[in-house]
Amino acid sequence: MNCEKIKIFIEKLLRFFYPNTCPLCGRVIREEVCPDCARRVQPIREPLCKTCGKPIRSSQAEYCLDCSRTVHDFDCGRALYVHRGQAAWSIYQFKFHNRRIYGRFYAGQIADRYGALVQKWGVTRILPIPLSRKKRRLRGFNQAQILALELAERLGIPADTGSLVRIRHTKPQRTLDPVLRRQNVRRAFGWKGGSLTGERVLLVDDIYTTGSTLDGAARVLKRAGAEKVYFLTVSIGQGY
Ligand SMILES: [Zn+2]
Ligand SMILES: [Zn+2]
Repeated sequence: MNCEKIKIFIEKLLRFFYPNTCPLCGRVIREEVCPDCARRVQPIREPLCKTCGKPIRSSQAEYCLDCSRTVHDFDCGRALYVHRGQAAWSIYQFKFHNRRIYGRFYAGQIADRYGALVQKWGVTRILPIPLSRKKRRLRGFNQAQILALELAERLGIPADTGSLVRIRHTKPQRTLDPVLRRQNVRRAFGWKGGSLTGERVLLVDDIYTTGSTLDGAARVLKRAGAEKVYFLTVSIGQGY
């Protein structure tokens, strides 16, 4: 038996004694995802908005309603799932019930789906959206950082987890309307790293709601010299 086969055998054995839970519904399973979720919870498919990656109704349209009216600070990005049903449940568990292991699952799915696109973008570093110190203390970890590290490993691109920082504790975005969301994040981020001249950076976060958090971070990165700012998230709201 070669090394790889032994590894697979040990993994199977461990899984037998310590079964997984499905990252999308919580059922105890021996596979990576339960067959029901594997069938039902599908990554976002075309047609989608060229800027934010939200699914849109018509393949004639290029942008979602939001992106056709807003000038974003980021260049473009993609999400894995529409934020509803099992995907929304799963992210809630990941964030608030300490299911850090789900981060590995999402990163695997994102890398499968968008690995080639990230290559095409020519990404030079991966940055997680940081949490405020207060939130991080409460939650114990930053879910975006887990995603960024897992993705960096899979895509072979360095992660930079310390240079982009929160400089203010902002109000929870979900309580605010879009205009207030923008104001809320305008000065929320700071850059502690060196020059980003010529770099193409990839921001990673769990959920895309209006994009204002990613815009706030992208603005700071562009000011530091970034040539392009892309993003990848686990989920995104619908475009219509
Ligand atoms: Zn499931
Ligand atoms: Zn859009």
